[in-house]
Amino acid sequence: MKKVDTRITVSDIKDQELFNDVDFDTVMSLLQNCEIYSIEKDEILIRASDVNNNIYLILSGSFNVLLSNDGSSPVANINAGQSIGEMAAIDHQPASAYVKAAEDSRVLVIEEDVVWSLIGSSHAIASNLLVILSQRLRYGNSVINIIKSQLREYEHNATVDALTSLYNRRWLDNMLNRVMQRCHKDSKVLSVMMIDIDNFKKYNDEYGHLAGDIALRAVSKTIVQYLRPEDLVTRYGGEELFALLPELDVKSTFTVAERLRKAVKQTKIIDKEGNHLPSVTISIGVAEMQDPDDSHKLIEAADIAMYEAKHTGRDKVCS
Ligand code: GH3
Ligand code: MG
Ligand code: MG
Repeated sequence: MKKVDTRITVSDIKDQELFNDVDFDTVMSLLQNCEIYSIEKDEILIRASDVNNNIYLILSGSFNVLLSNDGSSPVANINAGQSIGEMAAIDHQPASAYVKAAEDSRVLVIEEDVVWSLIGSSHAIASNLLVILSQRLRYGNSVINIIKSQLREYEHNATVDALTSLYNRRWLDNMLNRVMQRCHKDSKVLSVMMIDIDNFKKYNDEYGHLAGDIALRAVSKTIVQYLRPEDLVTRYGGEELFALLPELDVKSTFTVAERLRKAVKQTKIIDKEGNHLPSVTISIGVAEMQDPDDSHKLIEAADIAMYEAKHTGRDKVCS
């Protein structure tokens, strides 16, 4: 940042937001000792956590506002005619972001005591500053809302499987113990189903992987529609799904699983062009929670029952 050896003139500042509708005779005398600096592209004007009590008016060029100085994209761009640092000049708090020159620029530096003199001597400057601060606040809120919705999207992607829209394995690993503990605490039973599509490798080989994807999605949809809203369905592995059914014992779950097996068998699988593909069948292993502290045992019990269904003919439910 280099001091420029020129005196400030009305034409330098007449288009500044801060000086909108002001009487320049009053303003110019107060700005007599303010200095103009030139800043090269990529030079940092303000660093996050710096305490800075000046307002910088951008006379030419533009600046980017960055949340970190690690190459992340700017959250705002500030152009000639606008100002930087109004909030810090008033509340003396450290800066919350980096301000970096987006191109070779020139700024007029107004020190804190001059800022207060300007506010005190010009009603127009005081109201311009209020408008500028309101805009900053509004912009800050809109950035927060964008970040919040991005965060929700990341959270969703981290727990939901993209192909089936079911919860993913990571979600199950996090939640199974909690669901088990909750049921135990409420003195409720909990049953689970391990569901595996039969001969799915052959289906993929015969009709293509894309057809396999469509079948997997259709089966997932049938299962979700068929179970109660309080049941939780996850994609456990490739073509294996795992369902949690709170408040159902193994006997009732077996009955539900039998009906589910039939519903999947009757599920129509239709590709994008509207062609009907062959239906698939599923094998289901059912188990009831015995030890609320041992989720592995519960999964294993359902897995063993599912393999029993496979070994005894497939398209079958075992417990
Ligand atoms: P089984 O009846 O014993 O379960 O036989 P299977 O062929 O279904 O079992 P296997 O474990 O041999 O093969 C599973 C197949 O599932 C192989 C894999 O390509 C397919 N598969 C797993 N995930 C996906 C997927 O996301 N999309 C598609 N299209 N196929 C998948
Ligand atoms: Mg299978
Ligand atoms: Mg499998």
